[in-house]
Amino acid sequence: MTSTLTATAEGAPVVELDRPLVGGSHHRSSAGTAGLDASDAERSEKLAAMRAGELGSVHSWELVTAVDGPGTRLTAFLAGCPLRCLYCHNPDTMEMRRGEPVSADELLRRVARYRRIFEATGGGLTLSGGEPLMQPAFVARVLRGAKELGVHTAIDTSGYLGAHCSDEMLADIDLVLLDVKSGLPETYRRTTGRDLQPTLDFGRRLAASGTEIWVRFVLVPGLTDAPENVDAVADYVATLPTVSRVEVLPFHQMGRDKWTTLGLRYELEDTQPPTPELVARVRQQFRDRGLTVH
Ligand code: SF4
Repeated sequence: MTSTLTATAEGAPVVELDRPLVGGSHHRSSAGTAGLDASDAERSEKLAAMRAGELGSVHSWELVTAVDGPGTRLTAFLAGCPLRCLYCHNPDTMEMRRGEPVSADELLRRVARYRRIFEATGGGLTLSGGEPLMQPAFVARVLRGAKELGVHTAIDTSGYLGAHCSDEMLADIDLVLLDVKSGLPETYRRTTGRDLQPTLDFGRRLAASGTEIWVRFVLVPGLTDAPENVDAVADYVATLPTVSRVEVLPFHQMGRDKWTTLGLRYELEDTQPPTPELVARVRQQFRDRGLTVH
């Protein structure tokens, strides 16, 4: 993803928006703490609204082009994630409490405002994170509203919480950006702290339902780059007929400072970005299965 720039919508990769934008996905500072001093009554009201999906915890949003799906997109980064990826470049989205309370109606008003840009560019709304499926009721409500507006919808997910995605919600999703973080269960666990199987199950369910998938794989030297790990991802992805592209994303160190700021231990301090040769080898492993690679 790209950093946040001030620019016009036409031809600009990123457009700065107003609240609760607190920076680009790679360059966000800590989010605010609105609501933390609310009374108990306000707090339980807020929780009820979150359960109903009327209110979500949103870290930030931005208007982007050529990432997070086709065309120009409004990408909303939801707060909260069950994974702990060693390379996470948005560790400030891992906890839901770091987000700002935003109503589904407010987010949809914003979607409606950009409808003409979406139409002109073939873009739409992408719900990312963090992990959007941490807040399924909110996501379901926003997706439904976006479809009622005639807007293309995408979610960016690890698939770990795929069981939270109801069939109704799935029917409102045009594209899933499925982050397959490793192909070998032990490498997946080392990389994310969680099990691989839910992601595999969700991908199969998406394919069975005919939902378009873009697979994302982050290539980290010394962590996810073993040929057998990449082969396992590629073999799996090749079994999903609705995958229309694979994105191999080279690891970078842009999130490092956030880990330090949050007081979290960052294990990839000494890891270098992959060499062009390594990236080429991994992309070829996917191409060898007839997959379209970006
Ligand atoms: S799934 Fe995404 S947000 Fe969650 S820890 Fe991994 S990289 Fe970070």
